[in-house]
Amino acid sequence: MNSELTSALEEIANAFAVDKAFLAKATNHFLVSMDVGLANEVSTRGYMPMIPTYVTSIPTGKEHGLYLAADLGGTNFRVCSINLRGDNTFDLKQSKFPVPVELMKGNTSDALFSFVASKIEIFLNDHHDDLDESVTLKMGLTFSFPVEQTAIDRGKLIRWTKGFDLPDCVGRDVVDIFQRHLDALKLPVAVIALANDTVGTLLSRSYSNDSSKTNSNTVIGAIFGTGTNGAYLETIENIPKIEHKFLPKNTTGMVINTEWGSFDNTLEVLHATKWDAAVDKETSNKGYHLFEKRISGMFLGELLRVILMDFFNRGLVFQDLYKSRDNTLPHRLTEPFLLSSKILSYLEIDDSTELKMSELLMENELRLPTTYEERQAIQRLTRIISSRAASLSAIPIAAIVTRVKDQYADDDKDFEVGCDGSLIEFYPGFKQKVLDAFEVINPLQGTNKKLHLRIAKDGSGVGAALCACMV
Ligand code: ADP
Repeated sequence: MNSELTSALEEIANAFAVDKAFLAKATNHFLVSMDVGLANEVSTRGYMPMIPTYVTSIPTGKEHGLYLAADLGGTNFRVCSINLRGDNTFDLKQSKFPVPVELMKGNTSDALFSFVASKIEIFLNDHHDDLDESVTLKMGLTFSFPVEQTAIDRGKLIRWTKGFDLPDCVGRDVVDIFQRHLDALKLPVAVIALANDTVGTLLSRSYSNDSSKTNSNTVIGAIFGTGTNGAYLETIENIPKIEHKFLPKNTTGMVINTEWGSFDNTLEVLHATKWDAAVDKETSNKGYHLFEKRISGMFLGELLRVILMDFFNRGLVFQDLYKSRDNTLPHRLTEPFLLSSKILSYLEIDDSTELKMSELLMENELRLPTTYEERQAIQRLTRIISSRAASLSAIPIAAIVTRVKDQYADDDKDFEVGCDGSLIEFYPGFKQKVLDAFEVINPLQGTNKKLHLRIAKDGSGVGAALCACMV
């Protein structure tokens, strides 16, 4: 490899490096940010929202009944019904519909919610056409965007993230809009709970986790998919911003939706590299969710693309290709967000001779012919980007474990994180790298406990139904 390219790669490796001192500092900063967020109303981008969800307990696994859930929060819209059996198990029926890109931005919220209501009608016709006419099904809506929630079934959208941008919806109650579109279709559905995918993941894993068998308590629900976020149960006295007088007397805790994607938006500890800044500049929520933009599925491919374009502009890669194409590059390289993180998951582990598999993949998926040297650089970059993402992902987990561990001091069970999202489930080695960084921070030092990351498959949908069940 030529020396200029080698040193450019070294520069990136250094800028993206995550060492022990950084992890410790960032975990402390996360802990401070949690308290600031719990004390302050959501108003500036300076701190994590730490949103009270009005979910005051977590399922035990003994709950019963038929409930619906809808999940809107990213690439796909999901609908499901669950029949809880009361023994940590349930019957699940579900359907998944891709959200058309033209409904995500440059359109109205009515167009989006009318689309999702029509998909619920299809779901009910397909799976529950035998329902008694008098039955109204209770539904939990998982709406995975920052929402200011004032009750279990009331929440105003604070801002869109993850590529959605429908300005008329900001500041409005999303349950109200959704219910109007369900009523317009005369569907026997009452939306009685607003959940977040991350809250749903916590609830669904808590329901399914038979702790007598797993010897672990579920303490966090976490998402590593298009975006990243997490939820945990906080002691009620530690949430100064909530109006305690409106809560039932015996309330001892409340699930907090941290919105940890917004951790350190002011970049006090996170790496502030020019490539991260370039990715942020392309997003509709510029300056927000900067932690998420270093970690989640929507952004890893984009980080690689931005770095490759930088290398191209510095004359380090794709020069011959450019000349051979009448001074152009393939549009999937020049246009933002067309390089999917899924591709990185294949590049990461390619061990074929001269990286031939990557060559084929980039030809097919990106229409991008590459030299062996370019592929070596691309694989190195892929590993640098994904390793940083996984290491950063350990920070919120370690901070929350530090915060709640005293509550479990007399309990001999391990800690478990219920995880959902393609990145944590499918990206090779991602989960292990999160665990490795957690070990470096080592918040369980001095105990015999371990941390487990367990996949809560489609947990967000099941969890929203569980929210409806617990109202
Ligand atoms: P969502 O978070 O939208 O509900 P997912 O959990 O499936 O849905 O996450 C989708 C994101 O994960 C996309 O950004 C996609 O690029 C990424 N992704 C999908 N498959 C993989 C994979 N095998 N490896 C890494 N990332 C993936």
